Amino acid sequence: MTFNDLELTEPLQKAVQKAGYTTPTPIQQQSIPAILKGRDILGCAQTGTGKTAAFSIPTIQLLSLNINGRGGKAPIKSLILTPTRELAIQIGESIAEYGAYSPLKHLVIFGGVPQHSQVQALRNGVDILVATPGRLLDLVDQGYISLSQIEIFTLDEADRMLDMGFVHDVKKVIKKIPVKRQTLFFSATMPDAILDLANSILTNPLKVEV
Ligand code: AMP
Repeated sequence: MTFNDLELTEPLQKAVQKAGYTTPTPIQQQSIPAILKGRDILGCAQTGTGKTAAFSIPTIQLLSLNINGRGGKAPIKSLILTPTRELAIQIGESIAEYGAYSPLKHLVIFGGVPQHSQVQALRNGVDILVATPGRLLDLVDQGYISLSQIEIFTLDEADRMLDMGFVHDVKKVIKKIPVKRQTLFFSATMPDAILDLANSILTNPLKVEV
């Protein structure tokens, strides 16, 4: 299988080519077509498997297809929740790369730094928000972020999220996003606590294990 078989639109094909990818990794082969069809995903995958592209590429494509004719400041359509600042930055870099030819704005927010520049960037409109849970909830509570128009929600490294004590924050975030949405759930391991969380937020997910 090549990336040409994945029914990506021209801007995504171009970006993938520029990144130097020829063959989609197993998780990409399984996840990308399903996500493009609107399905939820329960992915058991470690870092290094290409999981970031597996959720970022179809997210960019789906949002780009719906963007035409939209005016003014866009509401946030996709939220990617990840446990650490380093992961958030990496995901942001990947989205910049895969979205280089797509008309979407993304923003990365995390704690431990002043919020001012993040708040400023939010004012310009954001389509895809990559966030760690604490700073996200801070900015939601202050009224700088609304999660009421989220269409695609990705939970990255769910097991690490729980290990780091973010379970309460994650549940709080989930309560603030619409029930009618597409959910992409990734975890390196699937202990019972993770499966319970997954089952409570996914609808008929495609299970992908690599
Ligand atoms: P990840 O598992 O998302 O952290 O990705 C691991 C690394 O694999 C990143 O450096 C990506 O740029 C790279 N990568 C992702 N997909 C592909 C692909 N299909 N072909 C070659 N490299 C890839």
